[in-house]
Amino acid sequence: MPSIFTKIINKEIPADIVYEDKDVVAFKDIAPVAPVHILVVPKKEIATINDIKEEDALLIGKIYLVIQKLAKEFNLDKDGYRVVSNCNEYGGQTVFHIHFHLIGGKKLGTMV
Ligand code: 5GP
Repeated sequence: MPSIFTKIINKEIPADIVYEDKDVVAFKDIAPVAPVHILVVPKKEIATINDIKEEDALLIGKIYLVIQKLAKEFNLDKDGYRVVSNCNEYGGQTVFHIHFHLIGGKKLGTMV
């Protein structure tokens, strides 16, 4: 069954997409925890961080370049921001298609 993010990637459900290329898409989180809360997602459906393969290394690196670009675009780069990727139950993962939360626009509190 396709993940909710694959449905967004395939434009089957709407999202506020802020970046897209052949490998990566980024869109605003539906329930933002800060003024800027963007999800950066590989188009390849990888369920969890545990499922990343050697062959995905370039893709994961590319995601960080997209994060860097978006951080500049949304004026987060100077003040700073946080990148979060949750894994499985204890990590608080709710969508099983890996994604990176780009969070910023205010001074963030402690992690846990
Ligand atoms: P996780 O809890 O897996 O780390 O993060 C999943 C994130 O996806 C949550 O922050 C949640 O608000 C967001 N989310 C879940 N469903 C949708 C959706 O349909 N559209 C958008 N834009 N975000 C979603």
